[in-house]
Amino acid sequence: MGQHDCAMAKLRLAAPVWAEVSARALAEAPLECCGLLAGTRAGGVLEAVAALPLVNQLASPTRFISEPAGLFKALRRAREMGLEVLAVYHSHPDGPPAPSATDLEWRWAPGVADLIVAVGGGAPLARAWDLHAALPRELALEVGGPG
Ligand SMILES: [Zn+2]
Repeated sequence: MGQHDCAMAKLRLAAPVWAEVSARALAEAPLECCGLLAGTRAGGVLEAVAALPLVNQLASPTRFISEPAGLFKALRRAREMGLEVLAVYHSHPDGPPAPSATDLEWRWAPGVADLIVAVGGGAPLARAWDLHAALPRELALEVGGPG
């Protein structure tokens, strides 16, 4: 067995988390923004209750790497809140909310999802992915409280 017994199936974002992430993706366009989503995990459902913004040290429209000090700070904040890092989010200022070749090379860790927010079309559009499957696997994505 791996670190997590249940395969990821769904990423649920608390409404304020989605509001923050989508606003930031729009504000930082045409550059990519990035950050972590923290929360709790119940079976295959990831419940994100906090967005922890990171600084994209590449300041690039097509790739991101977190500035390291900010990453350590965000990880510490998640731990202090008693939350687990569930997902990495980043934006695609001018592309679809699907993983790029670069995203597939720069994966985080197994059990951590990727949320990609496209803002090229005006209204932010997000999709969630498990990039650790043999092929990118889309996860169900939900905004708001338990349905
Ligand atoms: Zn990307």
